[in-house]
Amino acid sequence: MLEQLEIVCDADCCQNRLGEDTYRLSMTTVGGTQQVHECSCGALTITITKQ
Ligand SMILES: [Zn+2]
Repeated sequence: MLEQLEIVCDADCCQNRLGEDTYRLSMTTVGGTQQVHECSCGALTITITKQ
């Protein structure tokens, strides 16, 4: 079963949910996979998924 994480904009005063259309790029590092989402407000939110 996959966990469906809800991604919410990191910016103060902005609680937009970030869906697939806001996805920009991902980077895989030793610490896990980082995914970058760009909100319509312009803020970048980075999530880290540990393997
Ligand atoms: Zn935002």
